[in-house]
Amino acid sequence: MINITSFNQKGTYKQPNIFGYYGDFGGAYIPEMLHRNVEELKSRYLEIMYEPGFQQEFQALLKDYVGRPTPLFLAERLSKKYNTTIYLKREDLNHTGAHKINNAIGQVLLAQRLGKKRIIAETGAGQHGVATATVCALKGIECVVYMGEVDIERQAPNVARMKMLGAKVVPATSGSKTLKDATNEAIRAWINDPLETHYVIGSVVGPHPYPDMVARFQSVISEEVRWQLKEKTGSELPTHVIACVGGGSNAAGAFYHFLDDDNVQIIAVEAAGHGINSGMSAATTQLGKPGVLHGSKSLVMQTADGQVVEPHSISAGLDYPGIGPMHAHLYATGRGKFLSATDNESLAAAFQLTRLEGIIPALESAHALCALDQLKLSPRDVIVVCLSGRGDKDLSTYMKAMENVASQS
Ligand SMILES: *Cc1c(COP(=O)(O)O)cnc(C)c1O
Repeated sequence: MINITSFNQKGTYKQPNIFGYYGDFGGAYIPEMLHRNVEELKSRYLEIMYEPGFQQEFQALLKDYVGRPTPLFLAERLSKKYNTTIYLKREDLNHTGAHKINNAIGQVLLAQRLGKKRIIAETGAGQHGVATATVCALKGIECVVYMGEVDIERQAPNVARMKMLGAKVVPATSGSKTLKDATNEAIRAWINDPLETHYVIGSVVGPHPYPDMVARFQSVISEEVRWQLKEKTGSELPTHVIACVGGGSNAAGAFYHFLDDDNVQIIAVEAAGHGINSGMSAATTQLGKPGVLHGSKSLVMQTADGQVVEPHSISAGLDYPGIGPMHAHLYATGRGKFLSATDNESLAAAFQLTRLEGIIPALESAHALCALDQLKLSPRDVIVVCLSGRGDKDLSTYMKAMENVASQS
């Protein structure tokens, strides 16, 4: 159980200070109209989250609905290839196929206790939208999902899932018509109906207290890894924890309970797209500057005059021009090591895992696997890779990659 009184004035790697800052990053930069809502959330989220009745319902759903604990799998053939010991944390086996459901359940249960009647969410590839629509169906709550018009076309199966689940999918038609525009639309909708609506943010981004709240809901990942590793190796501590970072929620969950253990190396992998300096990338720590995006101060990919730069990644879940403030702090202090992987490297890593272990990963998760090629690993290392999701949604991309290889040979 997490100590809810452990906020301190300076903040820690895990938790922000009372104003929502992790070091220089975080805070709550919001329009006046949302002030009351964000204040209400801030003053009540910890008390609600750690109330025994809430925990009972949350834990029961994680177990019987999501299928937790997810396995910690010793990947023997992958380990042999890198001459070390590699465990995969199988978030891909969760209901709806990724880690996002952990947070969606937590926030919908919280919204119910705040007396909210309606849920809104933003989504890029549709994974967070599907997770949120799923929990709203389960609980019989109205759900509206904002999605860029371009993404609606690209992600038809997830749009169909959301509709079948009873959610209303509203196209965002401004800007590049992708995730950041959908986020702007969702914020606008929230401003129009702040009292009855809860906005379920899908990653460790947004104004305080969202980053801390989402990190706590996802921290179940590292909570499980600790006892699972103890069972398998006799020690709770790995040498490395590796996760991909879009906004950073699966990484925050995988890192959380190891952040105070200095001997555990924290490795985050961002999407380099066509290459960090190609102009087609989403490697925020490498390219970003401090700035405010979607309610908090963090690192943001932007032009000299502060316009947000269009990101690119082959994986929709990593295609975001910002990063959660916790990660900006881990980067700035050096507590976390930030690597990046290109589209092509990630495709290769996805095929390698599939052939060595019989597991088709999400393209996002494949980025995390690329760290294995970049780190100097020893046979005595014990590495945990967070496999954030399954690859079903990426099959058409994988098929195209196979056709390309076939046509070149
Ligand atoms: C959405 C998504 C991500 C990226 O989001 P984070 O908040 O950075 O975790 C990573 N992996 C999968 C499978 C996703 O669906």
